[in-house]
Amino acid sequence: EAKIKGRNRYLLYNPKMLSNAKIRLRIESALRQAVKQQQGFSLYYQPKIDIRSGKVCGAEALIRWQDKDLGAISPVDFIPTAENSGLIIPLGRWIYQQVLQDMQQLQHSGLSLPSISVNLSARQFDDPELLTMLLEGIKQYNINPQSIDIELTESVIMRSPHKSINLLKKLRDAQMTISIDDFGIAYSSLSYLKSLPANRLKIDKSFIDDIVHHKDDQAITSGIINMGHNLGLSVLAEGVETAAQLDILKELGCDEIQGFYFSKPLPFHELTAFLKRSS
Ligand code: C2E
Ligand code: MG
Ligand code: MG
Ligand code: MG
Repeated sequence: EAKIKGRNRYLLYNPKMLSNAKIRLRIESALRQAVKQQQGFSLYYQPKIDIRSGKVCGAEALIRWQDKDLGAISPVDFIPTAENSGLIIPLGRWIYQQVLQDMQQLQHSGLSLPSISVNLSARQFDDPELLTMLLEGIKQYNINPQSIDIELTESVIMRSPHKSINLLKKLRDAQMTISIDDFGIAYSSLSYLKSLPANRLKIDKSFIDDIVHHKDDQAITSGIINMGHNLGLSVLAEGVETAAQLDILKELGCDEIQGFYFSKPLPFHELTAFLKRSS
């Protein structure tokens, strides 16, 4: 497997090497080139499943980067570099355009996918052009705004709650939907939730991992689901890998799941095949 993944992969996945400033600089300069040439990136899509109906209720776009010299680099490793360098702004624009194109193609081929979720990081959320970019894009591609879902982590929102609430209100006014990603790990006050114009909580994978054996994780997950429902939000569990996890989540009243149990993130052509099979 190591061979297939490329000769230089080890170099990048070794955390010691990653913390090395030289390697970081190398990633940054490769990333700059890649963004400039719009080369080496692709979007994968991970289906989201409605627990009750068992149907696909959406898909999350996840970026992949294969550099010609460095090999495959995980978003966990290069998104922070893209953020710090500001390269996330042009990269985020490319991601959004690709999502719109893919959504348009799905519609043309008659495949129904209720929505595509797009991850936004802090720097993108602070970009004064963000709202314009999002709105112009759906107009240009003639996409129903309800079929674009914006994912933001709780910690990004909590950096400046008032500003975030205002921006999220504008997205909601435009009829896009909003998901709070990695929910539960940010140590934030829960009181802000009631004023947050969101549609969905995504429970962080770390609560789901041991949900079968740890009563504590079950209690927290159950608490999040009930609170979300009482606030009118739907609740999704991230990182579901087994049938046993799914059973518990079903019992707890969770609405949607995402995870390797149903599907890994797929390249676009495999997503369309998945949708054809499951429709
Ligand atoms: P996230 O948005 O919370 O995405 C979920 C991550 O969990 C993805 O990792 C996904 O592949 C992985 N995952 C999903 N189901 C399972 C499972 O059952 N088991 C395990 N072990 N993992 C699972 P990925 O694609 O490596 O992305 C990591 C993070 O990078 C994302 O976390 C998101 O914060 C960021 N990211 C990815 N794509 C983008 C993007 O297009 N734009 C921005 N701004 N950030 C992105
Ligand atoms: Mg996400
Ligand atoms: Mg997440
Ligand atoms: Mg995450």
